[in-house]
Amino acid sequence: MKKSTASARSSKTPRDQNSREPAVVAPTLEDADIVAERLQSNLSQFWGYPGFRALQRESMSLVMSDRDSLVVLPTGGGKSLCYQVPAITRNGLALVISPLISLMKDQVDSLQSVGISAACINSTQSTRDKMEVADKIRRKELKLLYIAPERLVQTKTVEFLQGAGVSFVAIDEAHCISQWGHDFRPEYRQLRNLKSIFPGVSVHGYTATATEQVRADIIEQLGLTNAEILVGSFDRPNLQYRVERRSDAIGQIQRILNRHKGESGVIYCISRKNVDATSEALNRLGHKTLPYHAGMSDESRSKNQEAFIDEDVNIIVATVAFGMGIDKSNVRFVIHAEMPRSLENYQQESGRAGRDGLEAECVLLYAANDVDTWEFLMQDTEDPAVLKAGRDALQAIKQYCVSTRCRHNQLVEHFGQSLEADNCGACDFCLKEMEAVSDPLITGQKILSCVVRQGERFGAAYTAQVLRGSRAKRIVENGHDKISTWGLMKDESEPQLRNWIDQLTSQGFLRQAGEFNCLEVTPNGRQLLKGLITPTLLRARVADSATAVEDQWAGVNRDLFEELRGMRGRLAIQKHVPPYIIFGDATLRDLARHRPTKLASLIAIHGIGARKQQEFGPVVLFTIKQWCEANGVESDVDLDTVARPRISERPTSERRASSVSDSKASEYFDLFEQGLSMEDVAHQLDRSLDTVSKYLGSYMETHRLTEIGTWIVPSVQDRVDEAIGQLGSERLKPLFDYLKSEVAYAHIRIVVIAWNLRQSEDS
Ligand code: ADP
Ligand code: ZN
Repeated sequence: MKKSTASARSSKTPRDQNSREPAVVAPTLEDADIVAERLQSNLSQFWGYPGFRALQRESMSLVMSDRDSLVVLPTGGGKSLCYQVPAITRNGLALVISPLISLMKDQVDSLQSVGISAACINSTQSTRDKMEVADKIRRKELKLLYIAPERLVQTKTVEFLQGAGVSFVAIDEAHCISQWGHDFRPEYRQLRNLKSIFPGVSVHGYTATATEQVRADIIEQLGLTNAEILVGSFDRPNLQYRVERRSDAIGQIQRILNRHKGESGVIYCISRKNVDATSEALNRLGHKTLPYHAGMSDESRSKNQEAFIDEDVNIIVATVAFGMGIDKSNVRFVIHAEMPRSLENYQQESGRAGRDGLEAECVLLYAANDVDTWEFLMQDTEDPAVLKAGRDALQAIKQYCVSTRCRHNQLVEHFGQSLEADNCGACDFCLKEMEAVSDPLITGQKILSCVVRQGERFGAAYTAQVLRGSRAKRIVENGHDKISTWGLMKDESEPQLRNWIDQLTSQGFLRQAGEFNCLEVTPNGRQLLKGLITPTLLRARVADSATAVEDQWAGVNRDLFEELRGMRGRLAIQKHVPPYIIFGDATLRDLARHRPTKLASLIAIHGIGARKQQEFGPVVLFTIKQWCEANGVESDVDLDTVARPRISERPTSERRASSVSDSKASEYFDLFEQGLSMEDVAHQLDRSLDTVSKYLGSYMETHRLTEIGTWIVPSVQDRVDEAIGQLGSERLKPLFDYLKSEVAYAHIRIVVIAWNLRQSEDS
């Protein structure tokens, strides 16, 4: 990051206004308030986020004060920022231990995209790349270094890092150090030495793992002293959970896909065979999907994964092999075509949806034979304790599938927490997609008496068939077409009947016994038959479950959103990074909602910090302006109301109230009005030429000025125009290079803005 590309920030502290250097503090010298302000200011300046998420502020303070810590937040909770913001707010180099190269690369790309100097060292790099990183470390240019744990046994690396001014160590996916976790990695055991390698340097672990045992183990293995443990809520309020009994899997999946046209999602299956079959079936029906499982070659797997990340294909059908190392933030749905093996797995796999905090849907399709499949897969397990744990886990998720209570509540309770609200507003029950059966007692009695009449020797599928009045050979042979309950519920579908049997089982009125899972009536069931207890029976209501989803689209022009998505895809290709690193979906929605056309307004948009304002501002504004004009849609909607809370969120810092930005701009605008040159304005206000050019840009946009003779000499204007003719106006850097570095960025920017304004007038 070079200082010469300083940017215009408006609602910042005076020191920030002309510098894109982070606000650094020496923690011991300044008080907690100042530290908190610096953190907030950097969050806003670099990431363009208005405020902290739960526990982020607290966990950052621990890093700032060198207190060892372990932070437990669910996937998507924002763990990375907990160490990234402190890393740029402290002096020195933060060391981040991360298990996978793909994860490291993604994080480094995303840090660089917001203008932070970060790098990784891994085995895929050339010696030259490694030397370059080492040079940057020597020159103290780097703020974050990502490395794999196995590097910490290499004496040379260790010695080098010992002299590199390491500020603190962050350990991503810290549960990998624990044998009790679901993803133990032996190489993480090297991390025990951290405390002796870097004496006095604080160590901070981050994980989404929920169990106490793993947490305690992480602390012990790392040798953390007096560590503070922060545990966030495991609830993911933006995820909508639904469960359906599987009857016609492909049809059910299709109905879900119809709610998510053009959006990214993952469909999980248990077996490789099913992955292939499901992917092919969906493709035949006109969906574009790719498979992913461990039976494929490494090459085709990574090809498919990349196509998903780059949004060439929206849907991946996969086994659980898929997911770790995928940071894609805008996964809008996760479907389990079959039941996962535990609630822990479900939490983790479904948790890959909606990391960006926007709504996302998680649907689990289950059928009784999923349990058999898992049982079969566990049959070789020798350790009885492990086998028991596996069976218990299966029971817990089966219970989740058939229960009749709020899904969010059930999930957090499983992880030992509770929710305040009974109604989450984001699951099939709370959204009233399941309605109570009007005569649950009679319905229950019909089913149970059928079980009794069959002699309690048959399973759920058979019972449902008898109730529906099937003449299947086996039923006739057993004489069950003659019993009084035969055909008693012929108007109900088989999946519905089986679902009620599940519900009655989960409520303890029936139980499955023996090798063939024969249904038996329990003592409670006898009470039900006598009419002494009434069950709760629910029926899925055929509903278009889009209800709560609409809110987060409020005011968003979906066509413009799609247009911006196209723009994001093109930028991603140019920059060789995944689209979500350019802009998250939340940012595109905010843009398509407020449709800003002025550079200065962009900082009010969620997820646009100084770097992205500068780098992508012109192309974003151009796209929006052109589209709004072509479609006769109003631009600059409610921009004053989105003036971000940013720093002014806290009442104590009035000097940073958002009006600063307007008064700052008018100071510049007055001088432009008077016809001063850019250099004079820079001199008069003691600002860099670059900063002045950004204010001038927004002045031109405000007044739709295309005549720039006052600021740019005609010969320079001609040269830049010619370059734009060759290379387009999307990025300044190629123009700067094309002009052999002879024309300042500030001047190029002005000609580009005038050019864009002329284009938008012509079109
Ligand atoms: P985790 O590592 O806990 O799974 P990430 O660190 O990947 O979560 O964060 C998930 C997403 O949320 C990322 O896109 C990140 O940029 C975003 N995010 C994190 N903190 C905030 C915040 N304070 N405001 C808005 N978005 C945030
Ligand atoms: Zn609920």
